[in-house]
Formats: sequence, structure tokens, C-alpha cells
Amino acid sequence: MTPMTAESESPDGPVSAGTGRQVRLSLTRRPARPARHLADLSRDERREVAVSLGQPAFRADQVSRHYFVRLVDADETDAMTDLPEDARGPLLEALLPRLLVPARTLSCDDGLTRKTAWRTADGALLESVIMRYPDRATVCVSSQAGCGMGCPFCATGQGGLTRNLSTAEIVEQVVHAARVLRRQELAGGAGRLSNVVFMGMGEPLANYTAVTAAVRRLISPPPEGLGLSARGLTVSTVGLVPAMRRLAGEGLPVTLAVSLHAPDDELRDELVPVNTRWPVAEVLAAAWEYAEVTGRRVSIEYALIDGVNDDVARADALATLLTGRLAHVNLIPLNPTEGSSWQASAPAGQRAFVRRLRERGIATTVRDTRGREIAAACGQLAAEPAGRAGRAGRAESARPVESAEPVTSAEPVTSGVPVTSGKPVSSGESVESGKPVEAAGAVSGSPVHGSRVLR
Ligand code: SAH
Ligand code: SF4
Repeated sequence: MTPMTAESESPDGPVSAGTGRQVRLSLTRRPARPARHLADLSRDERREVAVSLGQPAFRADQVSRHYFVRLVDADETDAMTDLPEDARGPLLEALLPRLLVPARTLSCDDGLTRKTAWRTADGALLESVIMRYPDRATVCVSSQAGCGMGCPFCATGQGGLTRNLSTAEIVEQVVHAARVLRRQELAGGAGRLSNVVFMGMGEPLANYTAVTAAVRRLISPPPEGLGLSARGLTVSTVGLVPAMRRLAGEGLPVTLAVSLHAPDDELRDELVPVNTRWPVAEVLAAAWEYAEVTGRRVSIEYALIDGVNDDVARADALATLLTGRLAHVNLIPLNPTEGSSWQASAPAGQRAFVRRLRERGIATTVRDTRGREIAAACGQLAAEPAGRAGRAGRAESARPVESAEPVTSAEPVTSGVPVTSGKPVSSGESVESGKPVEAAGAVSGSPVHGSRVLR
């Protein structure tokens, strides 16, 4: 029988110091494993939990329906009138513990974008962002608290990795978004969650088991899961090649986004340190394999950085790599992050880059910059409830809509130690032997932060 534990196998597990050495964190206060939640478990495993509590197995389905169909919050126990009163407490304690507490919520775009900073039971911080569009509603979720990949243009990468999130901690961000939309807490009237993008904090494929289990939970029909269409799900990766290959074999028809940012290894080594482990050619070969196996177009993400990677020669080189492939390019004008002097390409530069790609027959879109003023756009998530955006004076139009606790009491989960070296992350070796990369570590010189307990 599968042990019924949360599926994040190594919330603070082995990490790489960038030298290929596996080191184990010795924390003075080891983060607690997230409590088991029904979203960590298969339907059968939940039923076993109910039986172990002396309840009929179908009680687990009832609780699952409250969660995935009625979108009931963990503390709305009064709504669960179909559960006998004496069984309610034990069932909810065993299957529906509260995993995430909102630490701060900000909204912008006239209330159509909302970012929530969450605090886990062990004090780790993470963020998710809900974005409402005329034709869809998207939630951008975190797969890790922090990230160990050290991309120098990304705020998340500057803080290092705290820990992997469990399956349920990921699913909970999505269920919360579905609830917010159902209850019309966001501007724009009644809406339904249609898209989930794994583009928040963390490298999803470095937390492979929990992320793929979360995807399964999100697309399984109730009471097993939330019943979203797999077509609305996108997993974005920095290019962990063995894990990309493994994902292709999972039979999950999700869209794969590959964060390329440069067509040449020389520049990509600098922008995406893990490129020294898996260079452009290997990353793209794995992307084309994914496209072939799944029949799905791969999205090539490219942040346009002024004077760094936005020259027309690189647009040409990119077009050459992508010609004839099942791919499209998604350009992201660089979002500003604290401590980085890089800027987004000027509009004329962006237009020239787009023009050249399109002239060469490459499908190209430019991503909007939703949430910039509340530091909710791509690469700006740093789970800093005290307000990175506020300090930078970029939050004039940002309106805190709720605050579960005094925001000033919250301190950043990471100490903001800069990534000092662009060395490769080499903790992916184990993927090649068939095991996923879990809790891939920080780049050399960047301490991996133990989860600081913030309470
Ligand atoms: N770790 C994964 C997913 C999270 S990052 C990945 O890197 O793909 C989501 C996207 O935001 C990635 O394409 C990433 O390259 C991009 N990104 C990071 N920092 C950015 C910034 N400052 N401006 C624009 N895009 C950024
Ligand atoms: Fe991590 Fe992605 Fe940011 Fe790189 S861009 S540091 S992989 S979250």
C-alpha cells in the first residue's frame, strides 16, 4: 500500500552546492513536512483514511466534493452539513488541514489582477497571481518556495531555494483561485478558472513528483480532482532536460514552455546558469521530442533585455533554431527586479525583434506585463510581503485589498544574499538515472536558505 504521506519527498532535501557535491542542509530548525491533505492523496488513499477513522469510505468522497466541487474553504466547516457532526472534526483534520495562510494580497489592473503572498505552516513564503482576461482567467502558481536556479534577471532566483512545495500546497493555490473567481471577489463579474501556468516561484521540473501529481489532481474529474482541462495548463521550465524527457512520457497533454532567453550558449550560460549543464541544443532537442510525443506546440519564452539579447542577429539565430518546429515564441519585455540594472528592450527594439522573427515565419507573441506595479509579473515574485514594489515606488496604483496580518511584521523568507556565481546547478544528475530532480539546489556561492520560521 502506498504510504499516505504528502508527496513532497524532500521539502528541504538534497541540494547542490554547484560543485556536483550533494550536500544536506543542516538547519537549526528543520522545516516541518507539510501536513497531509486530501489533494496529496489518490481517491483510494483518501477512502482508506476515512476507514482508518472508523468512517465509511464514501465520507472521503464527500469531503473531496466539498473541496473540489463546492470549493469550500478549510474553515467553512458549517457548510459541510452532510458530514455527521461527530465525524466532521476528525475527517477534516485528517483530510483538509489548512496549509496556506494569506500573508498579503495586492490587486491592480482595476481589480483584474490579484497577487497573494502565502505563508506555509513552517513559515515558508510563496506567491500566486490571478489574472482575469476577457476570454479566460489564469492563475500563475508557485511550485517551490524560492528557486535554486539563480537566473540573474529573476527576483525569485536571487533569494535561493527554501523548499519544494507539496502537491497539496500547489493544488491549494489553484483551488483558492477557482474560489475567488466563483465568488466574484475579482473584478469582471462571474468567472471560471480556465488556465493554470506553473510560472510563479520555483522551477517546476526540479519538484517533479509533486508537480506532476498536482497536474493530475487538477485535471482529474471530481471527486478525485478539480476537473480542469489539461489544455489550459502550462508547465514552464528553465530546461532540465532529463525531466523534460520524462514529462513527455507521462501522457499529460499540458503545454510545455521553455525559458530560452538566448539562442547561443555563450549568452545563455550567463542568463540561465543551468545552461552550462544542459546547453541550448540539448534543451531544444528535448523540447522537440516533447512536441512530437504530445503533438503540442512548445512555447519558447524569451525575456527581451535591452542591449543584452535583443539584437536582430539573435532574432535571426533564434529563427534558425525554430524553423520547421512545432513551436511559437513568447517574448516577455523584461520586468524590472530590485538589484538588477537590466532594463526591458525599448519599444522600437522589441518591434524589430518581433518583425524579424515573423519575417522568418516564426509565430511570435509579446506577453502583456500584467501585475508589474505590484511586482506580480514574470520574474518579480519574491514573496516579500513587506512590499518590494512599495519600496521601489512602483505601487502607486497598487491597492492592498486585504491583509491577513500586519504586513510590517512579515520579513522576507530569504536573506536576499545575491547570487554571486553563474555556476551550473548540477543536482540534476539523478534524473538521468530515472529519478526526478527534487529540490535542485542553489548555484555556487549562493547559500540555500533554510526555511526561516517567521512567526
Ligand atoms: N522556473 C521556471 C518557471 C518560473 S519563471 C522557468 O524559469 O521557466 C516564469 C517565466 O518568467 C520564465 O520564462 C522566466 O524566464 C521568466 N522571467 C523570470 N524573470 C523575469 C523577468 N525579470 N522579466 C521577464 N520574465 C522573467
Ligand atoms: Fe528559477 Fe525560473 Fe527564476 Fe530562473 S527564471 S531563477 S528557473 S524561477
